[in-house]
Amino acid sequence: MFTTSVRFAVLFLILLFSLPLPATAEKKLTVYTVNYPLHYFAERIGGNQINVVFPAPASQDPAFWKPDEAMVREYQKADLIILNGAGYAKWTQKVSLPMLRMVDTSAVFKNTLINVDNDVTHSHGPSGDHSHGGTAFTTWLDFSQAALQAEAIYKALSRKLPETEAVFAQNFEMLKKDLLELDRAMETMSAHKPGLPLFASHPIYQYMARRYNLNLKMLTWEPDEDPGAAQWNHFQGLIQEHKAMWMVWEGEPLPESSTTLMKMGIKSTVFNPCFARPEKGDFLSVMQQNLNNMATVFIK
Ligand SMILES: [Zn+2]
Repeated sequence: MFTTSVRFAVLFLILLFSLPLPATAEKKLTVYTVNYPLHYFAERIGGNQINVVFPAPASQDPAFWKPDEAMVREYQKADLIILNGAGYAKWTQKVSLPMLRMVDTSAVFKNTLINVDNDVTHSHGPSGDHSHGGTAFTTWLDFSQAALQAEAIYKALSRKLPETEAVFAQNFEMLKKDLLELDRAMETMSAHKPGLPLFASHPIYQYMARRYNLNLKMLTWEPDEDPGAAQWNHFQGLIQEHKAMWMVWEGEPLPESSTTLMKMGIKSTVFNPCFARPEKGDFLSVMQQNLNNMATVFIK
């Protein structure tokens, strides 16, 4: 009888030898990213030619996360640093990163980024207070913009590894097809009930609202916190002018919150921005679930 550890060692060796060796092992690029969507895009395009790292802990919103010094050095050493742009991950502007290895994936649409004047601060998670004032940064929830961000990654990878350009091109085309399918599906769906008033729990849906013509009023609530008496009061006023029947949350809301909303005639649904690695599935499956949820809002 093998002990558990011996069995694990044997299993590990079997796995090790059954893995295909990368064709250009010596040239495998190390690519650091600042959020999960970019990580997913880079993985889809780069395949086994690259090693993609997204080090922010899942418990924190990577938009406001700050790496420690050791982690900043890891970013500095990377072959490519894939940035979201649009003011995302502000730490990247405060440390010195190698210019030539940075890729701002939203640079091609920087003239149409949305400016937000709301700067009421609030907090979520251990990263402390933050504000959504300045540039709106959830760029990828307009899936046509997501496709442009993926294209920036494809171009950067091809510059670094021109000999594998054809593989990257093929992978990128497949990813682009998936993203543009989401784009068309959202467009078609929202056209079923043009102007339908909706609430959203957090100010992160600006690009989605613009692209898909959503009549969306955004709050600064958290799915896992009670909004508090003052917010509920304020909300009572809002629903007089914005007669929505749905609240779109970033994640599953507290049962108390959805019950209170229900009493006001407002149902809850989830559109997960997927900024961190999901517990189950991947970017695409999370977005497909989001679209199923939106189908309930717009079609059923
Ligand atoms: Zn926030």
